[in-house]
Amino acid sequence: MAIQRTFSIIKPDATERNLTGKINAVFEDAGLRIVAQKRIHMTKDQAGKFYEVHKERPFYDELTTFMSRSPVVVQVLEGEDAVAKHREVMGATNPAEAAEGTVRKLFAGSIGENSVHGSDSEENAAIEIAYFFAGYEIVG
Ligand code: ADP
Ligand code: MG
Repeated sequence: MAIQRTFSIIKPDATERNLTGKINAVFEDAGLRIVAQKRIHMTKDQAGKFYEVHKERPFYDELTTFMSRSPVVVQVLEGEDAVAKHREVMGATNPAEAAEGTVRKLFAGSIGENSVHGSDSEENAAIEIAYFFAGYEIVG
């Protein structure tokens, strides 16, 4: 297994409840290092561009409204097999199906407001990291 980087977002439902530190603890306990992190407030257009792959899905408008509702924390996480490890500790998209101890099981309220985003492949991670971070902001 190789050291990878992945892209993470702590979503509005979580920042509104002041859960950034608790969620970061789950990531760090899983062996992921936070090598870049900043708090931003996305516009609906920025959220729309980020989630462009879901444009035709029925929940696209709801999702982009939600993601621009409050600040988010965008992050780059680094570690062994980071993409898969991060997805594992996030838990299933629908918190009702998420495994015990995962972020979504612990904190998420619904399939839409599910507290965290994580890249689904190393290729998408590189694209998503470049959307939010300049190289000098990532310090491994
Ligand atoms: P994941 O975030 O687990 O990779 P997807 O890529 O399938 O899940 O979906 C992106 C995001 O869109 C989800 O995290 C969730 O916020 C939202 N979403 C997915 N499915 C639904 C749904 N059926 N209704 C409302 N929002 C949804
Ligand atoms: Mg996804």
